Amino acid sequence: METLATLRDLQATLRDLTTIQRELSDLPPDVAVLDGRVKTATKFMAEKNRARETAQLQIQAKTKDLALAQKEEDRAREAVKATSQKVHYASAIRELDEKERTKAGIARPLKALEAMVQVLDKALAGLEAERSAAQAQFDELHAVFLDEHANQVEGRKLLLAKQSELEAKLPPVEVARFHRMAAARQGRVVVPVEGGACTGCRVKLRGPLFADLKEGKILITCESCQRILFLP
Ligand SMILES: [Zn+2]
Repeated sequence: METLATLRDLQATLRDLTTIQRELSDLPPDVAVLDGRVKTATKFMAEKNRARETAQLQIQAKTKDLALAQKEEDRAREAVKATSQKVHYASAIRELDEKERTKAGIARPLKALEAMVQVLDKALAGLEAERSAAQAQFDELHAVFLDEHANQVEGRKLLLAKQSELEAKLPPVEVARFHRMAAARQGRVVVPVEGGACTGCRVKLRGPLFADLKEGKILITCESCQRILFLP
């Protein structure tokens, strides 16, 4: 059956890909250290950028509040100037005092936020320098590593092409189901039946199912573990 053959081929292709992928990600210690440095710096940069964004939003809001507070303070100051009667003057002064305090209460945290953004910018610049230096060293050494593993690199290219080719022959739902099961069952999705039992879960097949399998007209899955079955 065409589908079964394609699925078995796909399984073998993915197994070979996993092996090659493992060899290609088994970096020499010095290269692995650089890879780790790049990843760590990238992670810290993302954190600091998030903190910076939050601070910027707060700055925007507080800047608006400050402008409003400034207007109120100006109005209160004008009121003081315009007042000639002593009794009104005292209350206008109190009002101005209060408006000044409100403005200071906004200006202080705003200043702190602006200082924080400056600190974050400095940290980000340092991290970017660290990241790009580590990345440059990594790229250099990794290119040497890949040169030394040219066979695997070529093999991976061929296997990936084969994977696409095989997947194109199958209905997309079948491909999705295959990958889901492969992830859950360590890549063993299509398994042989031996001694009348599924070799994936050791459960014996019911008679009618075994007969269908022998007939080989439709795709048979194990009733116990859902793996796809074939007779070797
Ligand atoms: Zn089974």
